[in-house]
Amino acid sequence: MKNHYDVIVIGAGPSGAVAAAKLLKEGKSVLVLEKMIFPRFVIGESLLPHIMDYLDDLDLLPVLEAQQFQIKNGVCFHHKKDDCPFFFADQFKPDAWTYTWQVKRADFDHALIKEVERRGADVVFEATVTAVETSKRLQTVHFVHPESGEQTVTGAFLIDASGYGRVLPRLKDLEIPVSTPPRGAIFTHIRDVNRTENAGRNIFVHIFRNNTAWIWSIPFSDGTTSVGIVSDVDFIEACKAENNKEFLRLLAEFPGLEGRFADPDIQFEPRTVMNYAVSVKQLYGEGYVLSGNATEFLDPTFSSGVMFAISSGYKAAALAARQLNGEAIDWEQDYSEHMKQGINVFRSYVNAWYDGRLPTIFFSKNRNEDFMKQICSVLAGYVWDQTNPFVKKHATILTTLAHVIKMNEGENEESTDQ
Ligand code: FAD
Repeated sequence: MKNHYDVIVIGAGPSGAVAAAKLLKEGKSVLVLEKMIFPRFVIGESLLPHIMDYLDDLDLLPVLEAQQFQIKNGVCFHHKKDDCPFFFADQFKPDAWTYTWQVKRADFDHALIKEVERRGADVVFEATVTAVETSKRLQTVHFVHPESGEQTVTGAFLIDASGYGRVLPRLKDLEIPVSTPPRGAIFTHIRDVNRTENAGRNIFVHIFRNNTAWIWSIPFSDGTTSVGIVSDVDFIEACKAENNKEFLRLLAEFPGLEGRFADPDIQFEPRTVMNYAVSVKQLYGEGYVLSGNATEFLDPTFSSGVMFAISSGYKAAALAARQLNGEAIDWEQDYSEHMKQGINVFRSYVNAWYDGRLPTIFFSKNRNEDFMKQICSVLAGYVWDQTNPFVKKHATILTTLAHVIKMNEGENEESTDQ
């Protein structure tokens, strides 16, 4: 490790690794400080095709292809006996990626950061950032390491990609409350001995409890599957009680899973994450920028977390490199507004998912194929494509469409799913 770098990146998750790869490509010196030893577990295992654009641009696909992750070419939503599959080959955006992967993040994140390190970034694991001083040109970062103790390093610029660690939001008092109700998740990995060919590929998302809960199953290429439930925190607490009794019962008996996890061979004790939604009052400041989950995280329903982590890491690094080259950067417009534009598209879909508008559209008897292709491109992560009406008019179009469907099909009969 040197005393000074062009850029210091906090966190070696996908946001930090992609930021570092982009900075190296722009000829900058980079230090990545990471609290954990990799490989390490983190939730967030189903990816979106749009990430492939960034990984391709940075020539990071070959190291990931070598991992032989499970190919993901779509997503299927379920409600009771109805299903609504989306295949990424069938999108509105003509040049979109038609597949991505489902990954154990321990392996995905490790492969990425190893490659970044091989390309010349200094990466220090077990380095916990504890304090920072930021200014226009000089950033001072303090961290502790189990062997070398307290250390200080400087950089011309700082990227906080610390994810759930939220280093700068905490240190600089940037946290703000979120408007969504408090939700949580309970999950584990299961040896998936009953997996069928159909269930073997894509993420399965089944909504229940009158749109207040959903269950995921994400198959991996090693024959295990990630299974979890997202709902309000009270329901997740109830699932967790008495050694996860209700969670295991639901896995075994949930009608849509058809007994696939009736006698589950669990790979680790189910874990919970509560109140996962987070937000900040600003995404940048003098000498620093936040990326990935250190900014805002809405909800896992549409698997958008890693896509935002990667796209924001890439964008933050590209702008930082230009600033270091002497260009004046409009961080508000070019970064903050840009990221919020994409996040707000998913915000509309998340809200419409839980308030029932999206289920009305997904499980309509007469789905409009053109609309479904446009929605498919949103679900693939292409949330900055203003030629897509389901991006451009995201704030109103789902309400209008759900309303028209209800008028045509009549109000759904009272739901009976608990
Ligand atoms: P992380 O991956 O969290 O990486 C941040 C790194 O910073 C960590 O390695 C951490 O150790 C390090 N760090 C933290 N503090 C410090 C410190 N003080 N000093 C140094 N290093 C530090 N997303 C998807 O795309 N698909 C999904 O299917 C999906 N499912 C989800 C399910 C649930 C229940 C939840 C809650 C989230 C899910 N997500 C999903 C979101 C996903 O987990 C995150 O969006 C993603 O991991 C963010 O990546 P990141 O690089 O910003 O942060």
